Amino acid sequence: MPTYRAPLTDIQFLLRNVFRAEELFAEMPDTAEVTDDLITAIVEEAGKIAEGLLSPINQSGDQEGCHYTDGVVTTPKGFKEAYTAYAEGGWAGLTGDVNYGGQGMPKMLSALIEEMSFAANSSFALYTILNTGAALTLSHHGSEQLKALYLPKMYKGTWSGTMCLTEPHAGTDLGMIKTRAVPNADDTYSISGTKIFITAGDHDLTENIIHLVLAKLPDAPAGPRGISLFLVPKILVDEAGELTGEANNVRCGSIEHKMGIKASATCVMNFDGAKGFLLGELNQGLSHMFTMMNYERLSMGLQGNGLADSSYQIASSYAKERVQGRAPSSERQSGQIADPIIVHPDVRRMLLTMRANILAGRALSLYAASQLDISRFHPNEAKRKQAEQLVALLIPVQKAYCTDRGFEACVLGQQVLGGHGYVAEWGLEQNVRDARIAQIYEGANGVQALDLMGRKTVRVNGDLLKVLFLEMDEFVASQQQISAMQPFLQKLTQCRELLIGATDNVIAGAADNPDEIGAASYAYMELMGLTLYCFMWQRILAAAYAAGESTTDSADYYDGLIKTGTFFMNRLLPRSQSLAEEITSGASSLMAMSAEQF
Ligand SMILES: Cc1cc2nc3c(=O)[nH]c(=O)nc-3n(C[C@H](O)[C@H](O)[C@H](O)COP(=O)(O)OP(=O)(O)OC[C@H]3O[C@@H](n4cnc5c(N)ncnc54)[C@H](O)[C@@H]3O)c2cc1C
Repeated sequence: MPTYRAPLTDIQFLLRNVFRAEELFAEMPDTAEVTDDLITAIVEEAGKIAEGLLSPINQSGDQEGCHYTDGVVTTPKGFKEAYTAYAEGGWAGLTGDVNYGGQGMPKMLSALIEEMSFAANSSFALYTILNTGAALTLSHHGSEQLKALYLPKMYKGTWSGTMCLTEPHAGTDLGMIKTRAVPNADDTYSISGTKIFITAGDHDLTENIIHLVLAKLPDAPAGPRGISLFLVPKILVDEAGELTGEANNVRCGSIEHKMGIKASATCVMNFDGAKGFLLGELNQGLSHMFTMMNYERLSMGLQGNGLADSSYQIASSYAKERVQGRAPSSERQSGQIADPIIVHPDVRRMLLTMRANILAGRALSLYAASQLDISRFHPNEAKRKQAEQLVALLIPVQKAYCTDRGFEACVLGQQVLGGHGYVAEWGLEQNVRDARIAQIYEGANGVQALDLMGRKTVRVNGDLLKVLFLEMDEFVASQQQISAMQPFLQKLTQCRELLIGATDNVIAGAADNPDEIGAASYAYMELMGLTLYCFMWQRILAAAYAAGESTTDSADYYDGLIKTGTFFMNRLLPRSQSLAEEITSGASSLMAMSAEQF
């Protein structure tokens, strides 16, 4: 059975040396008590949970899957006990509102914990992040009464949350949903309709499940402007926030049989006049849901990165053990008939591609999480606003680019193991299956790319990009005296020029032909992702050089970082050229064929 090891050295390096988390938290009164020592204690404890509680039931959970019998869903053996231990450890309320029993911890911290949970057991992690996201939405948009009734138990982990958006005919285009909310005399609503693909829609892990449901009132405006958000509990709750024991009219109709994340229950949910409570304002449901979606999308990127790391751990240790063929150069072991496959340049290509993207992906996720924290906690309004702009720009890229690179890393890891990567024993084939969904749900990656190119770039005339460039300028200015950094900084400048050229090109082209936006979008998201990974590597390299100069401890670790960063610049970044060319080639060759010619 594959064993997962929490990447604590990398995590500490990123938090302390690259992002200086303690200094950032000290600027914000609500996080000022989150010191390096506290961070270390929490991350180490979370690492133990991932290694000791979640990883051991990952493979068995995949093999057993969830069960559906007479409308009741049960999770695989060991999940309930693990969830209870997780909840009793206080993890469910880590980032929650302190006024309702949450611990008010920053997202930077919980992002790392999520990455470890996804790496160790993606199915389990999904139950936890859906609850966190639902509680967050409730805390932002719920009335005081709803918050007081529901949040404490969601933070305690005895109740869990879901998000019910998708319907059979409405996935990406939620404006088409048909679920109805009919007002009752007592200010509640009767919710009726069918939602599909609902993660954690039913299960046996918690006493109650709190669904956040998108629905339309009978007289609502057509399309996305007529959508409202409702809270619908599985078991009705009394005025003291305790279970009445009376089941609401919401039932799980079936669970999906799917490619991966088999221990995560993906449910068809039937609402048949279920009692619901309005969250926030009428017809503002979609924008309220976006509170949750920025966080959930970040989590999906972390799923990709976590599974990539789990795959890298297996593949890199395998490559040091497995002997096949002779080393082409001086690495040959004398007296042996074959060498470990790690001597082969092509095996190194795969491992270094994985490692370089995992570190950059983790850094990008932390960067996005830090902006979520600043936008939530910072006392300075201008800083909060700037962080909101960065969140808007970064999240679709982090979601799509980290999940694409994450899936690619799982496949590369599988390739490093050859035939042994294809069989179940080593865990790589499960990682490939579990990582694939992250490219699809929470908005398919093509739709993230479209969001980035259309709403976040063309529509605002590239203004958000300028905010990102200010951050890059500040960093570059700080490195002018560091000679080792100069060749790397040049690469960032070149990549940035390509991005500016591509942006101008699409903005100009879109004025005459709206298809230019969709035609450029995927390559543009990838060019942006590559540029951001380059920016993250600059920051990692700068911190590694600085740390290497101030201490001889961990010299080998910093040296490894510098070598991996150099590989990224030489072997992965050049793709930016072909992406820029692809973007500027325009829409014509994509749109030339008629539908019948496909
Ligand atoms: C395992 C699993 C768990 C899920 N969990 C949840 C959950 O908890 N809650 C929930 O509400 N939903 C959930 N979903 C649903 C998921 O979010 C949707 O499947 C996803 O958003 C895509 O919607 P769709 O499947 O209807 O595809 P469609 O919307 O039909 O899209 C199909 C393809 O067309 C592309 N496309 C669509 N529109 C456009 C456009 N305008 N421009 C360019 N390309 C476009 C998409 O990128 C995609 O490649 C889950 C799905 C799965 C499989």
